[in-house]
Amino acid sequence: MSTAAVPTVPSTLRGGEWLLQPSPSDSLFTPEKLTDEHRLIGRTAQEFVQNEVLPVLDQLEQKDWELARRLVQRGGGLGLFGVDVPEAYGGVGLDKVSSLVVSEKMAASASFGATFGAHANLTVVPLVLFGSEAQKQKYLPKLLTGQLIGAYGLSETGSGSDALGARTRAVRQADGSFLLNGEKMWITNGGFADLFVVFAKVDGDPSAGSGSARAESRAEQFTAFLVERAFGVKSGKEEHKMGLHGSSTTALIFQDVKVPAENVLGEVGKGHKVAFNVLNFARFKLGAMCGGGAYGAIAESAKYAASRRQFGQPIASFGAIKHKIGEMVVRTYAIESLLYRTAGLVDARIDATPHEATDGGPALAAFEEYAVEASIAKVAGSEALNYVLDENIQIHGGNGYVRDYPAERHFRDARVNRIFEGTNEINRLLIPGMLIRRAVKGDLPLIPAAKALQDELMGPAAMPAADEAVLGEELRAVDAFKKTALMLFGVAMQTYGEKLTDQQEVLMHLADIAIDVFSAESSTLRARAAADSQQAKAALHVDAARVFVNDAALRIDASARQALAAMAEGDTLRTMLAALRRLLKVTPVNTVVMRRRLADETVARGGYPFA
Ligand SMILES: Cc1cc2nc3c(=O)[nH]c(=O)nc-3n(C[C@H](O)[C@H](O)[C@H](O)COP(=O)(O)OP(=O)(O)OC[C@H]3O[C@@H](n4cnc5c(N)ncnc54)[C@H](O)[C@@H]3O)c2cc1C
Repeated sequence: MSTAAVPTVPSTLRGGEWLLQPSPSDSLFTPEKLTDEHRLIGRTAQEFVQNEVLPVLDQLEQKDWELARRLVQRGGGLGLFGVDVPEAYGGVGLDKVSSLVVSEKMAASASFGATFGAHANLTVVPLVLFGSEAQKQKYLPKLLTGQLIGAYGLSETGSGSDALGARTRAVRQADGSFLLNGEKMWITNGGFADLFVVFAKVDGDPSAGSGSARAESRAEQFTAFLVERAFGVKSGKEEHKMGLHGSSTTALIFQDVKVPAENVLGEVGKGHKVAFNVLNFARFKLGAMCGGGAYGAIAESAKYAASRRQFGQPIASFGAIKHKIGEMVVRTYAIESLLYRTAGLVDARIDATPHEATDGGPALAAFEEYAVEASIAKVAGSEALNYVLDENIQIHGGNGYVRDYPAERHFRDARVNRIFEGTNEINRLLIPGMLIRRAVKGDLPLIPAAKALQDELMGPAAMPAADEAVLGEELRAVDAFKKTALMLFGVAMQTYGEKLTDQQEVLMHLADIAIDVFSAESSTLRARAAADSQQAKAALHVDAARVFVNDAALRIDASARQALAAMAEGDTLRTMLAALRRLLKVTPVNTVVMRRRLADETVARGGYPFA
């Protein structure tokens, strides 16, 4: 069990259930509920990056990997790599909210954040979740102190998105060990890591007999291995990247690398379980790092806009700039809200499962349960950050385009967030794909809900009950978004059946709608909780949520219309569009005045107003 104070969040919703039913605002975890323990680990991470990493960033960008190693050791000494690790293995065993807070702070240096991610999320976490007791005892304490640096070798030249298409081979030897041959590509920390989680296909047993036994033994078994550099791993040259110059990215070369039998991670043939579950977790943390990056850039924009004068006044006084800063805050508020909500759900689920502190099973199950939410965090986080960093450059004008200011570095560094940990296209395909799979398995009552909605739409229009409370209109709009999503999922499943997987353009629209539903609801519930508890900044919370919901309605309408037009025509299409109009009746609000208020507060305090 985690040792940080457990947030009081009843775990009511299973993964994806928010699409079908309302959630009470007091049931979700928000940044306003952070405990002193959460804030303490956050401060430790923040001070580490501010005081020890950022001052040496230029040296890291010169590829001083000895310095990177020392920084990992220093961060290890502060307990920053052990947040997800039980104390029995040298970790600090905190909850996932703590893990989220640490990832946010690490993002102040994107390059070191990548080093941290490959080490803590992609090497330490797989060991915690899948390692044998002996593997954990052997490797975790050294990884946590930075004595060993970790890296994750999944991608290859010919297999990136199609990770299971890997060509690296592991041939079982008579003594039970494996000989690895092949090449991995784009490996973060590849130039200096000591321990690699490597995925390879166990290509049958060469000592097997003939006939069917031999054929069976040749079945390719995708498998994860723990491979020490000392076993004979060679690194390729450093890649010349667009950004993240302070993070090592190389190929890894395996030529007859002998790996002992006890270094199989998990089971032979179950490497896909390791790869995909680790990615669920890593995507969530990548979303957290994107949130962290956005807070920092908003502060840069706010300070620059206050000090830069044109036409005799600070550029912050211009409506066009207020719009940008206000919108940066609105989008960041949405991803922050959905990230904390997801962390709260994961923690509540882990805590609801009685288990020993050393048992990684409940965390594994929780991240599998909330895999859709993790993909949403990755896509929404990386795209919100992209927007924020692009506007950060724009606010800096010419100074945004030159290296004297950090805005251009942030922009280059962040572009890869939409590419790694599963591209945003792959994650967008996964979001409706996983929801539909859960529905078909009976884990999510999406199909009966879609049928009930169809009946409702055939009947006379019911007047929705008025909700006079603050954000009542927005919660009603979120309910309409959910119904729109349900209608679209229903039509898509009916139209294409099992062939829906071939209709990627429709799936992308479904994903976009689901992302907006989860983001809009998370923002609105958080803002309502802030208003209900009369927090000092409640009015700003309400502004952020209202602007988000207003714009989400426009996006959802556009996606729904395009998807419907791809699936139906003539009278059928006209009937569906009429149903859509009936569902999505959202009255526009004055977003100009709300964005202005958000921007003015951001400029006045020199940073993200909800920090
Ligand atoms: C800086 C950096 C660090 C990295 N670190 C690591 C690491 O530590 N470990 C590791 O294992 N990997 C790492 N990667 C690799 C990364 O995970 C892959 O680049 C990523 O998964 C995409 O694979 P790809 O480059 O082969 O692109 P491809 O898979 O070739 O994709 C090209 C385009 O086609 C699209 N596409 C592919 N398949 C489909 C499909 N079925 N449907 C629709 N569209 C599709 C993609 O979305 C993308 O737009 C890193 C990459 C970079 C750039």
